[in-house]
Amino acid sequence: MYNFTYHRASGLRQATNLLGKLDEAKLLAGGQTLLPTMKQRLAAPANLVDLNKVEGLSGIELQGRALVIGAMTRHAEVASSPVVQQAIPALAHLAGLIGDPAVRHMGTLGGSVANNDPNADYPAACLALAATIITTKRKLIADEFFTGLFETALMPDEIVVKVSFPLPKKAAYEKFRNPASRYALVGVFVAKRPSEIRVAVTGAGTSGVFRVPAFEEALKKRFSPKALDGLGVPADGMSSDIHGGAEYRAHLVGVMAKRAVAAAME
Ligand SMILES: Cc1cc2nc3c(=O)[nH]c(=O)nc-3n(C[C@H](O)[C@H](O)[C@H](O)COP(=O)(O)OP(=O)(O)OC[C@H]3O[C@@H](n4cnc5c(N)ncnc54)[C@H](O)[C@@H]3O)c2cc1C
Repeated sequence: MYNFTYHRASGLRQATNLLGKLDEAKLLAGGQTLLPTMKQRLAAPANLVDLNKVEGLSGIELQGRALVIGAMTRHAEVASSPVVQQAIPALAHLAGLIGDPAVRHMGTLGGSVANNDPNADYPAACLALAATIITTKRKLIADEFFTGLFETALMPDEIVVKVSFPLPKKAAYEKFRNPASRYALVGVFVAKRPSEIRVAVTGAGTSGVFRVPAFEEALKKRFSPKALDGLGVPADGMSSDIHGGAEYRAHLVGVMAKRAVAAAME
């Protein structure tokens, strides 16, 4: 690890000011992605701005027809929250599938969406549930927030404050885990919303999380796994690595989508 200067922010305004004025500054949330990359010398920020003592960034609240979760809320809190389990059980299930207990007790929702790892779980939930990401500057719909591999619409001095998930009628997430890393080799989140069906896929696309309009159209006509018979995604555009080739991932997208629809119907 290279040397860096540690700053403990006491409020959002201070964190924003530090990000704006310091050279090569990075926010530190749960540290589950940032610290390993720093240890491996894949990242070398000169300054770390710690969000852990900033008040008001963590918590889970039902606000009308939306579930609002603070950026510093840990995955374990989402997984075990009776409010989440009642309002969007698929989201609690998803949080409980992330990494291992240590990762879930430190990793945060804000860190996960800001990092936008192509194999991460939350981006699929945000996209399928049509979530809004609320930052220190604006509100961004998920379709505009996730822009590519490890890329988001966030500006360098912009902080994710909370995420608002509109309540779906039905939803489910099915994840084919990489047994070594526990990240998604392919994960599919299906949401039946009052006015539309959304299907979002993580782990598979070369450009990160994506929706599958053909699946969504078919499921709008008939919300059943059978509606997806004969449909698939092209292997072109799927990532390929030692864990699975593009054809394999394309096949898994169809399989996991059907499983997710079946789970949502239960
Ligand atoms: C062994 C292991 C297994 C894992 N398995 C999975 C898995 O199965 N599924 C999965 O989805 N993830 C997995 N993860 C990643 C985990 O979910 C991380 O918690 C997450 O990616 C990052 O969250 P964090 O709070 O740790 O962020 P950090 O590591 O602290 O930060 C990550 C990045 O986000 C930025 N950031 C953090 N918070 C904010 C904010 N509020 N606003 C703007 N930028 C911010 C940071 O500056 C940094 O660039 C795994 C990690 C490990 C180490």
